[in-house]
Amino acid sequence: MKLNERGLLVVMSGPSGVGKGTVRRALFEQKDHKYFYSISMTTREPRVGEVNGEDYYFISREEFEQRIKEDKFLEWAEFVGNYYGTPKDIIEDQLDEGKEVILEIEVKGALQIRKKMKDAVFIFIVPPGKKVLYNRLLSRGTESEEKIRERIAKADSEFTLAHKYDYIVVNDDVNNAADRIAAIIRAEHAKTERSIHNYMKMLEEN
Ligand code: 5GP
Repeated sequence: MKLNERGLLVVMSGPSGVGKGTVRRALFEQKDHKYFYSISMTTREPRVGEVNGEDYYFISREEFEQRIKEDKFLEWAEFVGNYYGTPKDIIEDQLDEGKEVILEIEVKGALQIRKKMKDAVFIFIVPPGKKVLYNRLLSRGTESEEKIRERIAKADSEFTLAHKYDYIVVNDDVNNAADRIAAIIRAEHAKTERSIHNYMKMLEEN
């Protein structure tokens, strides 16, 4: 029996190349899940194989800046020369429907959400070692050497902010990492502060 009907806002970050997307996809393949992935908007060019409306909404800088003015983002940040942002409108509805809303965003954006949404859960995904990360970035072959170097430097600075998160999950194996995240979500739902109110109500009714 689940005592807490509202879904959780789960913010996942981690350095470029750590495999956040792969872990998230493994999580979504688990049975009976109620996850909702928030598709971000970005001004970055699509990589080969990326689909508009599935991986991101790819929009122009002008459109993005217009949306900032109209306060349409829950958070946004600039990362290695491009804008990335979380559209605000859909998230509350999904949480109310009991869905666990998963955001996959970089650290500056995550810290904005930390301030706004006290109830959110923050998970930092790390590689089993730095070499793994660099090799993954290099072998991905989707960025120029200069961009890869920028991403590596960024990864180093992101590690220093890992302590701002509630949980650290090592991506040593994709399915293990997904299992750990599922376990965190289950445990968070069982926290007294989230579940006691509904439990008391249920006791009155039964
Ligand atoms: P990439 O270009 O590799 O897809 O993403 C670069 C970084 O931006 C990654 O750390 C990714 O998680 C992050 N990111 C993706 N969407 C958002 C978003 O909506 N907001 C923020 N702040 N970061 C995002």
